[in-house]
Amino acid sequence: MERARILRELALQIEGELDRGILCWPEPEWNEAVRRFLTPPAQPAAPHRPAPSSGPAAFARRRPPAAEPTGTARRRPPAAETAPRAPKKQPTFPPPPEATGRAPDWEKQLAALKREAEACTRCQLHETRTNVVFNSGTGTVPLVFISEAPGANEDAQAEAFVGRAGQLLTKIIAAIGIDRKDVYICNVLKCRPPQNRNPLPVEIETCSPYLFKQLEILKPRVICTLGLFATQLLLESKAPIGKLRGRVFRYHDTPLLPTYHPAALLRNPGLKRTVWEDVQLLRKLLDEGMAAVAKDVVAAETPARRPQVASRDLFGAQ
Ligand code: SF4
Repeated sequence: MERARILRELALQIEGELDRGILCWPEPEWNEAVRRFLTPPAQPAAPHRPAPSSGPAAFARRRPPAAEPTGTARRRPPAAETAPRAPKKQPTFPPPPEATGRAPDWEKQLAALKREAEACTRCQLHETRTNVVFNSGTGTVPLVFISEAPGANEDAQAEAFVGRAGQLLTKIIAAIGIDRKDVYICNVLKCRPPQNRNPLPVEIETCSPYLFKQLEILKPRVICTLGLFATQLLLESKAPIGKLRGRVFRYHDTPLLPTYHPAALLRNPGLKRTVWEDVQLLRKLLDEGMAAVAKDVVAAETPARRPQVASRDLFGAQ
């Protein structure tokens, strides 16, 4: 029993390493052999069951089966391990609320700001970018996700969150009953730092007025920051993401919930449960506002207010 558990843990560990592109052995065919070993034997065709569109299973990675000793005499698992599991009840959500309080020409304002960013040469990143990555999604649902900076895929396609982390974010958003194209996703930096290095403080300082203006135009009901840089910027905090995630803060009276960046989940799938708890709270905040938060459970804090920036004063005269 103990041996089976250890082999199962080992198999999960090895598959995770291979998924992240870490070669566990120097010979490529050894890695392939391990993949074959981890691949479950073909099963008789089962009736098609559609994947859940919401709930944690919607973004949970399929876990490999328990690894077993090789050889002809395979151990038959105990009956408790083979018994079919009762299907988990997936949460369902009503249609998300619509945005309120925006200017009638909010889309035009965003388009004008985007054009301004596309011509921007305010920091050194304009020299190495392929495209300015302003956002992804229409923003008709008043929920804004903010991450740190575009990566290689985003730089090539001029759209935020289109790589593997983006695909995972799409599933995370679907898990709370929302179509990704209806929310607004953007970054602190609009241009990719070379080699995906961390944003420099001077780059954040130079580029962040675009983000502040986006938020001013969008008037979101809830903001979700993904990872350290966006969270620390909007909360004016130096605390690590592990201390800030899952707690509700205020940004100019808008509820703000930090959580882990999807790339962190790809590196450490064990964080998925934590993020699932965070995004369920996010959905509750979207539906009910701050009334959803019991003050004795989640801290509500107000960071120092930033001065509002008028569009024409965004960077002063050019
Ligand atoms: S990162 Fe921001 S400030 Fe720097 S060039 Fe791009 S848009 Fe301009």
